[in-house]
Amino acid sequence: QTDRTDHTGLTERPGRTDRARAERVVVGAALLDGGRLLAARRSAPAELAGRWELPGGKVEAGETPEAALVRELREELGVDARTGERVPGRWPLRPPYVLQVWTAFLRPGSAAPEPLEDHDELRWLTPAEIWDVPWLDQDVAAVRQVLDTHGGD
Ligand code: C5P
Repeated sequence: QTDRTDHTGLTERPGRTDRARAERVVVGAALLDGGRLLAARRSAPAELAGRWELPGGKVEAGETPEAALVRELREELGVDARTGERVPGRWPLRPPYVLQVWTAFLRPGSAAPEPLEDHDELRWLTPAEIWDVPWLDQDVAAVRQVLDTHGGD
């Protein structure tokens, strides 16, 4: 079997292409309000329970990441949210999942967040309080990036 070539005559790089195709995005929300960030404590599964995360979940087939985030925030927290900017970066979870983060904001008239599904406690953290909770290992770098990019919002 010879190398596959595309119309430019350049050899494809199947390793990189196949990895990108297999990847599944988990979206996390940096839900911001008055300069504070919402942290959610997981109640399940057992190996994650008690650790804190950016709320979110898996993007479903045919869904944009932003739509998935709005859906997950409604399901998990009972809020009506809108997404803002993508927080730069991508953080590997258990393969094939990769975490990407968007800022999010409560729409006017939204209910206050409540832990409805995967969480048993919520906290609005000021930048000074951000490291007071034990974040999931895989969320630490994402939270640091949120703080660097939006710590003054
Ligand atoms: O919430 P859900 O179960 O859909 O999340 C999918 C997976 O992504 C979970 O296994 C969870 O551990 C992971 N996740 C994460 N950090 C987040 C949100 C989800 O590691 N902020």
